[in-house]
Amino acid sequence: MDLQKLFFEHLAPTSPFPFLLNIKSANGIYLEDIDGKKYMDLIAGIGVASVGHANPKIIEAVTAQIKNYGHVMVYGEYIQEPVVQLATNLAAALPDNLQTCYFVNSGAEANEAAIKLAKRVTGRSEIISFERAYHGNTMGAMSVSGNEVKKQAFRPLVPGVRFIPFNSIDDLKQISNQTAAVIIEPIQGDAGVIIPDKKFMKALRERCDETGAILIFDEIQTGMGRTGKLFAFEHFAVTPDILTLAKGLGGGLPIGAFISSKENMSLLARDPMLGHITTFGGNPVCCASALAALSIINQNNFLEEVETKGQLFESLLEHKNVVEIRRKGLMMAIELNSEEKVDRAIELAREEGVIIYWFLSTRNCFRISPPLTITTDEVIEASTRLQRVFERL
Ligand code: PLP
Repeated sequence: MDLQKLFFEHLAPTSPFPFLLNIKSANGIYLEDIDGKKYMDLIAGIGVASVGHANPKIIEAVTAQIKNYGHVMVYGEYIQEPVVQLATNLAAALPDNLQTCYFVNSGAEANEAAIKLAKRVTGRSEIISFERAYHGNTMGAMSVSGNEVKKQAFRPLVPGVRFIPFNSIDDLKQISNQTAAVIIEPIQGDAGVIIPDKKFMKALRERCDETGAILIFDEIQTGMGRTGKLFAFEHFAVTPDILTLAKGLGGGLPIGAFISSKENMSLLARDPMLGHITTFGGNPVCCASALAALSIINQNNFLEEVETKGQLFESLLEHKNVVEIRRKGLMMAIELNSEEKVDRAIELAREEGVIIYWFLSTRNCFRISPPLTITTDEVIEASTRLQRVFERL
């Protein structure tokens, strides 16, 4: 069977240049293609396979759950143990104002619902977002994303969205008592790992408190240990009013979540009732997988090691052709200051059996966000291969 021919025949494309790795299997940080070539996966399916591919604990949890029961009802009606347990375990890891969890299907849906909730809580409509933000590709999530070129064909989008510069304390005065929500990635991911100042994040929290605007942290990329803390907001000692999660949350299975206070969340059940509903939200198999992933991330020194391995990676990737490395934990942007060099690096890395990848909203750097379970030896091996790539740029 010519899978590649069928791929082009029957799958809708997202770009004229798909990566076209023909996958046979995946294990740990390795992908294997149908020709038996092995690749070190340094992108984890874009930040999803945080606990590694085919993690035995995930396989065990998923298998046990699907044998017991799979989808039995839409979100929010039946009591299903893995769903309740996951919400409970997340609550245990979160501050007092983030104790109530709503499970959805994806990052975009989590942000859609978070924005709806902010409008419902405040009775206001203006949303403030940040230049170069990425929050997803559905209409609402795209409306609060910064990439003008990608949005143009799909206008009109959701009205009342205003973009302000990221990390500019001065511009926070644009948040006013008309603002329903401010949505922000505490570390901008697809803009190329842009880390704001602690002072800015504190000022943002203060301005939202002053104006009554709901502060939404989109931790879809930064959450679940990616930056060396369970949640990136811990780096800034600032907590949001609504937290959104997806990607690494599910241990490789699709699940998103938005989390807020019990008081805020209760509004979704009245005026109107069913303020947000979703058929697949809180799928018990996905929740069982997410529970297993969370328990792996919560083990002993797991999070400290994410930072240590990130530091090692950073130090081993120094090279005259690397202009800058922006990094927190194992979330990294390698700045080459050149689109051509980025394209070439990705191609050469593939030859070397290493998968690195572009960002969505910047072309001059590439991403590294491997499974968090990557070993020190694997970091060293991947860096050796990437040094050979940098040498050929
Ligand atoms: N928010 C952030 C910060 C993301 O990085 C992404 C995906 O890359 C999303 C939202 C959208 O998530 P999804 O693709 O699951 O809709």
